[in-house]
Amino acid sequence: MIAKLNIEAELNGPQLRAVTAIEGPVLIIAGAGSGKTRVITYRIAHMLEKGIPQSSILALTFTNKAAREMESRVKELTGKKLQALTVSTFHAFGVKVLREEIETLGYRKNFSIYDESDQNKLVKECLRDCKISSDGVDLYNLQQLFSNIKIGRLEWGTADGSGRFADTVWRPVYDEYQNSLKIYNALDFDDLLTAPIQLFEEHPEILGKYRQKYRYIMVDEFQDTSLIQYRLMKLLANKGNEKANICVVGDDDQSIYSWRGASYENLIRFEKDFPGTLEIKLEQNYRSTTTILEAANGVISNNTNRKEKKLWSGMDGGKPIELFYPINESAEAEFIAEQIKKMRFEDRLKFDDFGVLIRTNNQIDVIEEAFLGENIPCKISGGKSFFDREEIKDILSYLRVVANPDDDVNLLRIINTPRRGIGKASISSISEIAKRNRSSLWESLGRWQLAKDHGQESLFQEHSTEAKGRGFPPEHSKGEIGGFISLIEGLRENMLGKRDLSAKVKAMVETINYWGHLITEYNKDEKKAHWKYANITYLIQMIENWENDPDNLDKSLYAYLNRISLLGRADGDGEADKGKVSLMTIHASKGLEFPVVFIAGAEDGIIPHERSIEDGPGQDSFDPIEEERRLFYVAITRARDKLYITSCQQRKRRQDVITRVPSPFLQEIPAHLIWYHEKEKEPDAQATENFFARMKEQFN
Ligand code: ATP
Ligand code: MG
Repeated sequence: MIAKLNIEAELNGPQLRAVTAIEGPVLIIAGAGSGKTRVITYRIAHMLEKGIPQSSILALTFTNKAAREMESRVKELTGKKLQALTVSTFHAFGVKVLREEIETLGYRKNFSIYDESDQNKLVKECLRDCKISSDGVDLYNLQQLFSNIKIGRLEWGTADGSGRFADTVWRPVYDEYQNSLKIYNALDFDDLLTAPIQLFEEHPEILGKYRQKYRYIMVDEFQDTSLIQYRLMKLLANKGNEKANICVVGDDDQSIYSWRGASYENLIRFEKDFPGTLEIKLEQNYRSTTTILEAANGVISNNTNRKEKKLWSGMDGGKPIELFYPINESAEAEFIAEQIKKMRFEDRLKFDDFGVLIRTNNQIDVIEEAFLGENIPCKISGGKSFFDREEIKDILSYLRVVANPDDDVNLLRIINTPRRGIGKASISSISEIAKRNRSSLWESLGRWQLAKDHGQESLFQEHSTEAKGRGFPPEHSKGEIGGFISLIEGLRENMLGKRDLSAKVKAMVETINYWGHLITEYNKDEKKAHWKYANITYLIQMIENWENDPDNLDKSLYAYLNRISLLGRADGDGEADKGKVSLMTIHASKGLEFPVVFIAGAEDGIIPHERSIEDGPGQDSFDPIEEERRLFYVAITRARDKLYITSCQQRKRRQDVITRVPSPFLQEIPAHLIWYHEKEKEPDAQATENFFARMKEQFN
């Protein structure tokens, strides 16, 4: 039996007001742990209870994981099956719209989604096509530039507030990039937002349909929405003369994505764009002990650029924050592992009660290793993902090509992996023909095959002068190219159904003889080959888990690829994290909470990050140090009962060992809340004093 939803008993006054104000715009700016996410969850449940159809509700979250959690909470609260409710990230929402409507923009529905590394390859290819050497070109910056152009933050020949200049020499490369995406029937991440906007702006009838459909919109973590996300949201929510039913919640103190173009000025913009907004303040924190909250407030109050808020905890003082000053990162990792083992035993905590937060990805390895050594199961998110491994990418490239053979970037990855005798020369002559015809490689291959089957191969070659000169395809690889075409066609026939995807992927891995490929590639290191193959087995297992999930209604290859493409860094590998310690970047920890939190590497140069120290305040109001302080605030406020902070005295950096200094943010935590942790000894107030005295010296 599901208990009836009792919102009065489970919400405080202001929360209740926010949950029941379902008509008209609502804005909630409130501190960490004050129940913002809870408000959105209960609002949805309340709406469903009132008989508002699931299909009219759209809730936008920051990560896929947060979306899944919210959905399962709503399910718990209402006892309803959720089949038509949309809870997703902005990007996943974009995909949902595009899978329905993209043909209007001249794409096909089986479009590929390019991640950063696909994008990187494509940019390189475009540089080559524009006869610009990629030596000395900062590809990351170039990708950023393209992104800024695409989302309208920069225009060619102009500069933005922080001095970035959009040099017109890159314009032809950008145009080539755009054209190629179109030919490959592929979209990059920005397109997932800009294409729906274009669709809505150019086709009022489509916009009208979606406005009509989503009558109730909610956005969590609103402080980190980008301008382009804001535009999309505004387009949907604004319904002409009618009042918009939109509720956004956020915390300016937790805005940590400015570097990615998020703008908490959206908070200010919102009030202007949605007149008559009901503003609600939430001031009680339900997450953390008074000690943790006081520490967090002590830190964040040093930021000048913020909305002052009151935030209090109804809980008692709780345990002191423990500070540990290990000799180096190995000692730090060992300390964390030991504490976890000890607390699990003494306080009967579970592994998933612990969160270990780091500022930078390169802190992951040492800690992961220590956990492995101590048999502590852990789940990593925010770092290098499982899906970035070479062997996994190979298999996923196959799946992408099966779904969308026009996807040149992925086709090029697999056309000769495993090696099948299609050499560089063949590939480049096919590419030339394809470029000339402004078609994808696959299409060109198909035309060649057709001509050949009709005995008109020479005719096909005549159309492509360059290829004629070279002879396409080279005589010796004709058979191999033909074989590749039939391989992909066979896989397409087999794999595009709605069932048994994991079994089909398994069969595919065998068909292409990937194991043979690994053995040849790693003939000197068989262990590595085995390890890589084990990863593929794990991938197949993951697909099977996904298939068997009762909430998963669409089990097609397309649905799987969508899901994988949209997994953000913060989502980890999308597998359940029950029974595991979470090891994650602070960025990935947004919105989460753990009974026990470790902040590792609280050192000057890590947090605040050295890059932000070098950069100094920008020309616009953005101050990188303040952003780092917000990050530190986010980290502290993830803790419910107990917070550990560690700061190493030395740290290895490439070959050298360098001396480290504690983060200046530590001084901003009121000293009486901290205990200096000395191994094997009771926490000692004198040691804390000494520690701070030493720190002061270092900073003077
Ligand atoms: P963040 O800013 O970190 O995203 P938040 O404002 O979204 O935090 P929630 O995650 O919604 O806060 O809530 C923090 C914790 O407090 C959760 O465990 C939530 O269930 C609990 N909580 C919030 N409001 C109440 C309440 N009225 N009664 C009991 N528990 C509450
Ligand atoms: Mg939240």
